[in-house]
Amino acid sequence: MKPAVIIIDMLYEFVKGRLKSPEAEKIIPVVKTIIEKARVKNIPVIYVADQHIPYDFELRIWGPHAMLNDLESRIIDELKPSSRDIVLYKRSYSGFRDTGLDNILKSMRVDTVILTGIHTHICVLHTAWDAFYHGYNIIVVKDAVAAFSKEDHEYALKYMEKIYGARIVDFKELMNILETEVEMQ
Ligand code: ZN
Repeated sequence: MKPAVIIIDMLYEFVKGRLKSPEAEKIIPVVKTIIEKARVKNIPVIYVADQHIPYDFELRIWGPHAMLNDLESRIIDELKPSSRDIVLYKRSYSGFRDTGLDNILKSMRVDTVILTGIHTHICVLHTAWDAFYHGYNIIVVKDAVAAFSKEDHEYALKYMEKIYGARIVDFKELMNILETEVEMQ
């Protein structure tokens, strides 16, 4: 397995702002530990982050959020990217749409995406959809993703498992996978 860790929308807007997930604060230490482990093992760490302009379609649903140049669109300090990490900006739910993510993963010969971040049933789900159709295996770390409600979270995990064949694991299982299934990089 040649994985990359994807951190979706861990921004002030979604962790502490208007569109925050109540569980968001809880997943921060889990995501942080996954990032640190990935850096040690030379697994690529890629952030995808909302950065909207006023014409974006989804603003019809959510109103203005994580707007370009607003403080709310910053990645939270606790998960600050290092200079070796990759940060991509998006204007839709999917981390793949118009971000170049697929090209970057292909050039790194990544075959598996490990999804973390917010929200399980929106941007994580849509990133999983695109990952599936771009040919990647998907691992979703259930205690490193969060949604508005437990129901949203649970149905999205089930959906990704059934429809995209995602492996739904917890942090401990992920650590085991990284130890036993990842090729030396
Ligand atoms: Zn958005």
